[in-house]
Amino acid sequence: AENENLEIVRSALKLCPNFPKKGITFIDIFGIFANAKAHRALIDIILNRLSNRNKTIDVVVGLEARGFVFGPQIALSLQVPFVPVRKRGKLPGKVAQIDYELEYGTDTMEIQLNTLQPNQRVLLVDDLLATGGTLGAAQKLCANLGCEVVETLVIIELIGFNGRAKLNNVEHFTTLFQF
Ligand code: AMP
Repeated sequence: AENENLEIVRSALKLCPNFPKKGITFIDIFGIFANAKAHRALIDIILNRLSNRNKTIDVVVGLEARGFVFGPQIALSLQVPFVPVRKRGKLPGKVAQIDYELEYGTDTMEIQLNTLQPNQRVLLVDDLLATGGTLGAAQKLCANLGCEVVETLVIIELIGFNGRAKLNNVEHFTTLFQF
């Protein structure tokens, strides 16, 4: 059933050559959510994976923007809080920040203070792992608040960038590998 579900998810992905610029193939995960069967298959794969781990997760942290699409339902299933990480200037109140590398230049991501408690065990979710700069920075941000990222989870991993090398001491779960 897992292989069947993986096939359903894979065929719902939309590959968009030369978007947002020439030479990049953008992987549009919203094709999955546009199709209830593919959406169900994705969530079943993820929940199945998480139920086969016996690590405690205290909080799910999702990255803007596509980590917000499926992060909350994972948190709901695990019966733990969902906390957003956003780009600079979007979250009210006091925040912790971290700078991270983009293809050109740097950007800043933020998390609200008091959303994470020290020593909490975090599951980090985003849609896609490429160079690992984004998830790696989010891991550091959580660590700076005294938390431990015990697991990272993405829908797609672009192998070839070796993004996993940027994730320190975590179990990483990828639903689908893309070459
Ligand atoms: P990276 O920091 O290089 O691992 O890039 C991951 C982040 O960039 C994720 O938040 C993705 O949403 C986005 N991203 C990078 N490459 C792609 C791609 N080919 N298609 C869709 N999103 C991408």
